[in-house]
Amino acid sequence: MENSEFENARFAPSPSGRMHLGNVYTALLSWLYARKSGKRWLVRIEDLDKQRCKKEYAEQLLDDLCFLGLEWDGEIVWQSKRTDFYKKAFDRLFDAGLLYPCFCRRADILASSAPHENLVYAGTCRNFCAEKIAELSKIRRPSYRVKVFGESTFFDEHYGFQKIDLQKDAGDFIVRRADGNFSYQLAVCVDDADSHVVQIMRGRDLLTSTHQQLFLYRVLNFTPPQYAHIPLLVSEDGRRLSKRERDLDFGFLREKFDAKQIVGKILHLCGFLEKPCPLELCEAISIFDLKKLPKNDISISRFFENSI
Ligand code: GLU
Repeated sequence: MENSEFENARFAPSPSGRMHLGNVYTALLSWLYARKSGKRWLVRIEDLDKQRCKKEYAEQLLDDLCFLGLEWDGEIVWQSKRTDFYKKAFDRLFDAGLLYPCFCRRADILASSAPHENLVYAGTCRNFCAEKIAELSKIRRPSYRVKVFGESTFFDEHYGFQKIDLQKDAGDFIVRRADGNFSYQLAVCVDDADSHVVQIMRGRDLLTSTHQQLFLYRVLNFTPPQYAHIPLLVSEDGRRLSKRERDLDFGFLREKFDAKQIVGKILHLCGFLEKPCPLELCEAISIFDLKKLPKNDISISRFFENSI
């Protein structure tokens, strides 16, 4: 079946470890939102980072989605098999004069900026002349950055109107890394556009990325999707969950609870259910209501209360 004939939503996990509760929550909510609004739900495995991503993690992840009953539509897309498509988009950006080589090392960039979720690149290599570029190319392989400009605005279905100054708040960002791999930002745009994705639900930590991706949509002349960012699940002391917090990984959760319990507990955390009772996915679709989802991050503390 051709994706272009349908309205698609998607879930795009990185197989860099076992899913944790936060990943499961994102998968579930994006599935519910897609089903509620009559969209197909595609799954794309974001395995571009060969050092961190493993095939067995991806297989486990698909098995975890099956355990929950989150059926996907169409073929799974593997980013590692789509390099040619990223290269084409990269060449278009390059030919349009929108890219420049960047010789800064990650450590240099980190040292010159305050710690921040989204590092804003200072533009050090933006205006190097051809001689300087030739000279530096002898020493080091560059990454490639895209020159951003102007304001970016979009309407988020959960967080409302969003606006940033691209230079000041996001900065020129990498589309191809020094090791030759294409970046997450570029790959995501190309894939979502190729798969005719019209709806993206994902964590609010990607709000700035969305501005960067919308910039690429604009300069590549792709049709942008509709976005709904959702609050993050955080630990009791307010920290973001990470794949390193093994006690919240899905292996542990699968040993303790069945699928209906997990669905009920997550929907309870989201405020859709007064009490955490076991829930079939079809019932979950009917009670899913984006308007009831909090804007603030959600503590997982209640997940382990009131065993059901
Ligand atoms: N692969 C990213 C992650 O697992 C998500 C990308 C996206 O939803 O655009 O965090």
